[in-house]
Amino acid sequence: MAMQEESRRVVIVGAGPAGLTAAVYAARANLHPLVLEGVRAGGQLMLTTEVENYPGFVDGILGPELMGRMRKQAARFEAEFVSEDAVSVDLSAEPFEVRTADRLLRTDAVIVATGAVARMLEVPGEDRLLGHGVSTCATCDGFFFRGKELLVVGGGDSALEEAIFLTKFATKVTVVHRRRTLRASKIMQDRAFANPKIEWMWDTGVDEILGDGSVSGARLRNVVSGEVGEAHADGVFVAIGHEPQTALFKGQLEMDDLGYIKVQGDTTETSVPGVFAAGDVVDHRYRQAITAAGLGSMAAIDAERYLEGRPITEHAW
Ligand code: NAP
Repeated sequence: MAMQEESRRVVIVGAGPAGLTAAVYAARANLHPLVLEGVRAGGQLMLTTEVENYPGFVDGILGPELMGRMRKQAARFEAEFVSEDAVSVDLSAEPFEVRTADRLLRTDAVIVATGAVARMLEVPGEDRLLGHGVSTCATCDGFFFRGKELLVVGGGDSALEEAIFLTKFATKVTVVHRRRTLRASKIMQDRAFANPKIEWMWDTGVDEILGDGSVSGARLRNVVSGEVGEAHADGVFVAIGHEPQTALFKGQLEMDDLGYIKVQGDTTETSVPGVFAAGDVVDHRYRQAITAAGLGSMAAIDAERYLEGRPITEHAW
């Protein structure tokens, strides 16, 4: 099949809360955005069940349904969706080029909203029980574990932050870490050690997450002695880090040491004028649907202002 070529004012890469909110705003600004939603359409919320902290949904809403609604809202204003992944980008000259397997898109502005993915343990039971007791977000799911016993896996700041947060709901939170030394900052360690609801399992790896329908425990292994045992738990929070999805932009956009895209001050402007970034791909601090959506709206406003000063080039839609 011949490569399909198209020209656009704005291409949005990614379709989680950031990308879809950017699409609503850009579409309402008559920029007729094209959204590359790719295989991860909907982003991390597609992996959650109930979302209770997205404002406006008094009784909560399922993650996939929330994303479906955002998508419909953008489509209503004629944002266009393409279910393909971007496979390469060229941001070295204008118009920018974004390629999928079948298309070459030329565009005056790009909004990068490719998000991040939580690192997973990749052990049996994890996938099957994701959203049914296995979680990667305490802020999102902690509330469902009132009066329960939980495991938090990891030894970094995220793990300790999640463990401390979860003690608001759980009766007991056990941090399971594969070494004896925590990677987390001293202050987080002090706070976690002082919390009477937190227990520790050192030198311990997770072999399997157990449960029929929902989590009932985990099979653990002492990585030093090799001893294997089972621990009861109503939930397992995997907090072993996130990976920003920025491989496409390496060498083209400035990133921090962790691979998150750098933006200028309080804007969504990247190191390349005309390229904006929003959502978890820039934010490893808050990582909420609502903050990603907020950043998405900012990216569309920034892109609109950038394009305002530039005539519609011949190629553009
Ligand atoms: P991180 O610092 O990379 O820590 C990841 C932890 O997970 C490490 O303890 C690591 O063990 C463990 N781990 C990784 N892969 C594993 C696996 N396959 N099985 C079992 N354990 C595994 O990630 P993070 O905690 O998400 O933090 C990321 C960055 O954000 C850090 O710079 C952190 O300081 C920052 N952050 C800051 C705050 C805060 O200040 N409040 C909160 C959250 C995050 P090892 O230690 O053995 O490698």
